[in-house]
Amino acid sequence: MEERPFSDIAYEQFLHEERLMGSRCKECGALFVPPRPICIKCHGSGMEWVEMKGEGKLKAFTCIAVVPPFMMEEGYDRKHPYCSGVVELEEGARVVARIEEVDANDPENINMGMPLAAKFLHRGEGENVRTFLAFKPL
Ligand SMILES: [Zn+2]
Repeated sequence: MEERPFSDIAYEQFLHEERLMGSRCKECGALFVPPRPICIKCHGSGMEWVEMKGEGKLKAFTCIAVVPPFMMEEGYDRKHPYCSGVVELEEGARVVARIEEVDANDPENINMGMPLAAKFLHRGEGENVRTFLAFKPL
């Protein structure tokens, strides 16, 4: 597993395995999710994979009514917007992901700081299968 490059492709492979992985700088300890091959804090290139527990808190969000086609197939549209948020993971890294199981038509009921848990959305079939990271309320 540690052999995988710190790339988006490797990150998505881990998502497919239902693991949320980031890269941690061995020099300064900075953590990146998705992983980065080079540390943006100290420019070190000594990275190691670390697995996130998959829990965090909502730091920011927006509800989006103009949805990409593959999400229309899931039932999202102008009347059923989806929510995209910034989640601060327990480990400290921040990740952008879809927030599910909240009412995007009623954003006042979506609370900043609400605890969230990662879930993995598998879409498509065969070679076209892709896995997306999402979060849901704990
Ligand atoms: Zn660093």
